[in-house]
Amino acid sequence: MEITVQTASKSYPIYIKPNGLDELSKVIQKNNFTNLLIITDETVGRLHLDNLRSALPETVDHSVYTVPSGEKAKQMSVYESCQTFALKQGLDRRSCIIAFGGGAVGDLAGFVAATYMRGISFIQVPTTILAHDSAVGGKTAINHPLGKNMIGAFHQPEAVIYHTDFIKTLPDHEIRSGFAEAVKHALIADSDLLNMLMNEIKDLHEMNDEQLTHVLQRGMEIKANIVSIDEKENGLRAVLNLGHTLGHVIESSLGYGKTTHGEAVMIGIVFALHVSKEVLGLSFPIERFEEWVKGLGYKLEIPQDLSFEDAYTGMQRDKKTIAKRPRFVLLETIGEPVLKEVEENVLEQVFDMMNNYIK
Ligand code: NAD
Ligand code: ZN
Repeated sequence: MEITVQTASKSYPIYIKPNGLDELSKVIQKNNFTNLLIITDETVGRLHLDNLRSALPETVDHSVYTVPSGEKAKQMSVYESCQTFALKQGLDRRSCIIAFGGGAVGDLAGFVAATYMRGISFIQVPTTILAHDSAVGGKTAINHPLGKNMIGAFHQPEAVIYHTDFIKTLPDHEIRSGFAEAVKHALIADSDLLNMLMNEIKDLHEMNDEQLTHVLQRGMEIKANIVSIDEKENGLRAVLNLGHTLGHVIESSLGYGKTTHGEAVMIGIVFALHVSKEVLGLSFPIERFEEWVKGLGYKLEIPQDLSFEDAYTGMQRDKKTIAKRPRFVLLETIGEPVLKEVEENVLEQVFDMMNNYIK
């Protein structure tokens, strides 16, 4: 399966298949890179690096730099050591960085590539479901002690190569994290995909290759479409934020690492569906949706110690907020998102309802 992503700055291919690595050496040879730097994390390196290396063309030298797994990869100090390693390896402007891992490695390695000698090429080889989201769109970033993703750049890859067999080693909570973003993509743009998911996927472990490829492919197409219209996040791209206004607050109130991003976003998605019903009269079987996602292992409880007041203050900090009034991505119908300011009392009412009714 191949998709082409078209952005104002460039176009590039995405390959998605169980043996996607077959495409890697073709892309490398076509681009005539002088040498390669693989940036991976400890977990992915341990599980899959041999496999990746054996797919590289013998004619091009490569080196490997391994960073800590998870969000720790996106520390400033790790970024600096990647640059030091790249300089010592003698990477030049025709070298290429291969981002081999989930979204964290993708964001880090992409930002290293965006800034090394003012920008060199990189290829994404994503290994998580969540990375179907992060590998498209060209956003790269590291974290600052004062905020997540605060230091970054827009930098598009030469190609995204999804070897879906890698996903088979993902732990449950990471599968749920990525699948939540796929559900989000279906809700904002594709009611057929949503129906397919709700009817066919009852156990995330039992997704077959065809279903997984379809979920990743449609998710990436939807994201790519939105990004191609709004590469630098001036307007439409905000719809990708469905579920994230409350999701981010829950993620930070529990403490990063206590829940995955996507699991927190799923609570935010359910919240946004209820708000959509209140404000826009969304007609959608929300209860059936809730039962479905609970069956997949998602927990929909708002954390006990998160009061509405604190949640509201957190939502006001969201970057969609204007003049302290939080704006939400809501659904008119499935596939038709709108960005809308929502009154505090409506938010409180839905918050209280979810608090009581889901527990
Ligand atoms: P991640 O890269 O931290 O991966 C999650 C965990 O799974 C890590 O511990 C990793 O080592 C492990 N892992 C990865 N692949 C594995 C595999 N095949 N088998 C077993 N374990 C594996 O996180 P993620 O969930 O992929 O992505 C989250 C990151 O993506 C966040 O930093 C977020 O800010 C970023 N993000 C970026 C964008 C963007 O547009 N750039 C969009 C969404 C998210
Ligand atoms: Zn997200």
